[in-house]
Amino acid sequence: MEVTAAVAKKAHAKFELESLTLDEPRADEVIVKISAVGICHSDLAARDGAIPIELPAVLGHEGSGYVERVGESVTKVQPGDRVVLTFNSCGECPNCTDDRQAYCHQFAPLNYGGVRPDGSAVLSSGTETVRGNFFGQSSFADYALANERNVVKVSGEVPLELLGPLGCGIQTGAGAIMNSFQAPPGSSVLIVGAGAVGLSAVLGAVVQNCANILVSEPHASRRERALKLGATQVIDPVDGPLPDQVRAALPAGVDFVLDTSGNADVLASVALCLAPRGLLGLVGVPADPEATLWVNVIHAMVLGLRVMGIVEGDSNPDEFIPRLIELYQAGRFPFDKLVKTFPFAAVNDAIHEQETGETVKAVLLNENA
Ligand SMILES: [Zn+2]
Ligand SMILES: [Zn+2]
Repeated sequence: MEVTAAVAKKAHAKFELESLTLDEPRADEVIVKISAVGICHSDLAARDGAIPIELPAVLGHEGSGYVERVGESVTKVQPGDRVVLTFNSCGECPNCTDDRQAYCHQFAPLNYGGVRPDGSAVLSSGTETVRGNFFGQSSFADYALANERNVVKVSGEVPLELLGPLGCGIQTGAGAIMNSFQAPPGSSVLIVGAGAVGLSAVLGAVVQNCANILVSEPHASRRERALKLGATQVIDPVDGPLPDQVRAALPAGVDFVLDTSGNADVLASVALCLAPRGLLGLVGVPADPEATLWVNVIHAMVLGLRVMGIVEGDSNPDEFIPRLIELYQAGRFPFDKLVKTFPFAAVNDAIHEQETGETVKAVLLNENA
């Protein structure tokens, strides 16, 4: 079918709206009419080469919309269902069968491969292949081809156009605190960076009833926003070394640190903010793919420190996304405060506002959705 998509053609260049051909759904695939799609840091990382996908490509991986058509073996959804799209996974490897699909052994080919696992293209322009299948969706478009595994059915009582970011950025931040850390009530957490993922982590820490929610962030407007969303204290990095500022508030250090910045200078000191038996979680994608975390071995050993990489907030999307929606409906997870909507055609303006920090989470709305 013919679709309209925002195509990434060159690193650091603007997206261009084009008409493309979307392939027919295979047996386990689903075509979704995209109502709205969030913009995530990984879309820009992929456009700019930090995530290896050939260009031209259609990116976008926080789509929400209505099921348009399904392949013959699909049982999870049917046409007309409201769905949130999320990351794809194989369903068969040891981690998928353990409901830990964020660490699917096939994660890279299924989410960044640009084509189906058998090498067939999902998008084309005339005779030219356009890379698609980004996070199993490529939802910077009016229609997207997903897999049964990466669509999550949602109820009709919540505004569908807000929900796409639950499929990546918001579940990543909130899930890191709620699933990966399982931060207990009364615990202390330092969140480094107050972009969409960091602020979602603040919301997750509030849900978990953490007693101390510290946020380190260089932009004053974002620190302000963190306080409004439930941070108990904010730190401006220019006021002194991060461990000193953390220990001025909590002399023993914090139980958990979540780094959403990927900033090498910051990462050099985050382990020094931890209390004994503290846990450091890494979700920030560094600009330099060779970035390395240095930890003093004796310090780590005698304090019993732990470090964990985190993908997608350890989410099992079919369970976690509906749980976040329930919390939102109960007034306990106001993620809508992070969202600003733009018309789909304003994709480049939306990216600009998100990159400058003016907007936390830009969501593109399709017309007639
Ligand atoms: Zn798997
Ligand atoms: Zn993402």
